[in-house]
Amino acid sequence: MNQLTLATDLISREIQPVKIKSKTAQSAYLDKRVTKSQRENKRARSQRARERLRTKEHLVRLAVGLGEVELAEKIDRCHSRLSVLTCGRHIARIIPNFTCEFRLCPDCGRRRSRRLQNKYLPAMRAFMLHNKVTPVHLVLTQTHRKENRKQSAKRIKDSLTRLQRRGFWKEYFKGGTWSLEFTKDKNGLHHTHLHIIGFRRRFFDIELLRGEWLAATGDSHVLNLKPIVDIAAGLREVVKYVSKPLDIRRFGAADLKEILGLKNMRMFGTFGEFREFCTDFEPSDNDAAVGDLESLARDLVEGCACPQCNEPLFDLRMSGKELPQFYEQTESSPPGKVGTKWN
Ligand SMILES: [Zn+2]
Ligand SMILES: [Zn+2]
Repeated sequence: MNQLTLATDLISREIQPVKIKSKTAQSAYLDKRVTKSQRENKRARSQRARERLRTKEHLVRLAVGLGEVELAEKIDRCHSRLSVLTCGRHIARIIPNFTCEFRLCPDCGRRRSRRLQNKYLPAMRAFMLHNKVTPVHLVLTQTHRKENRKQSAKRIKDSLTRLQRRGFWKEYFKGGTWSLEFTKDKNGLHHTHLHIIGFRRRFFDIELLRGEWLAATGDSHVLNLKPIVDIAAGLREVVKYVSKPLDIRRFGAADLKEILGLKNMRMFGTFGEFREFCTDFEPSDNDAAVGDLESLARDLVEGCACPQCNEPLFDLRMSGKELPQFYEQTESSPPGKVGTKWN
C-alpha cells in the first residue's frame, strides 16, 4: 500500500457515519418509481414490441432531422426482417436480418441485456456459493442540478468511487455490479441513478448506509435497498435499465445530439472482488446450463421440441412490424393454432 492510499484510508475511517432518521419527499418519489418499473415488467410482450417499434420510428425521425441519414437507415433496417422459431404458442428464438447496435435502439438493447445476463449470471451464482454472500439491489440517487448527461453520470460515478473507498463499504460489501439509469424530469433536468447489485457480507442498518452515501456525495442520502431473492430476476431487473426504452415523449433532437456526442460511455460494470472473480471465471458445463430458456434456445433448430410445451418448432419469416401482432396471437391462442395463419 503506498502512502497516498494509506492516507485516504485513514481519512475514511475517521469520518463517522451520520445517522439520518427522517424520510424525505424525494425518497418517497423513488419508492414509487421502483414499483412502477415492476409494473412495467408485467405488460404483455405484444405491447412492449409495439412500443419498441414506436421508439425506433421516433429515433429514425430525429436522426433524419439531424441529417444523420446513415444512422437513420441503420435503425430502420435493424430487426426489419425476422426469422422466428416458434411452436405457434411460444417463441423459442428470434433471429433478425440485421442489428444496428446503436446505443438507444430498443431491439439491440434487449439483445445487449440478454448477453449481459448470459455472461454474468453463472459468475454471480458461483461467486455467491463460493463466498457465502447475499445479493441486494441498491439504488443510489443524487441531487438534481443543471448539467448535461455526461456531467451527471460523472458526478454519480465519482460519488460511487468515494463510497467504495470508505471503510464501511469495504466491511459490508464484497463486490458486485453497477449500471447507470438516465431519466429526465419535466423541467429537463437529468435524474441519474446507479443500480447496484451488491454482494453483502452481513446485515447492516440502512440508516448507516444513508449516512455513508451522504458523506460520498456531499448532498444526497437518498437511496433504496431491497434484498434479492432470485438472482436471475435481480440481474434481469438491473440490466434492464441499461437497455430501457426511451420515454419518447421527453426525448428530442437535442438529446439525440448529446448521446451521439458521448460514444463510449460505460453503462455497466463490475467492482470489488466480484470484478476479479469474473476475470478468472470459466463457466463449467454445470454453470452454463443455468436452466434459463434463453440460453437453451441457442442450440434449437426447426423440428426440435419447444422447451415450454414439447410441440415441434418451425421457422416463420415475418417483418419486424408484424411481430407485435404475432405476439398478440401467441398470447391468446391454444397450441398449434397460430402458425397456420402465418405460413
Ligand atoms: Zn438495433
Ligand atoms: Zn411451445
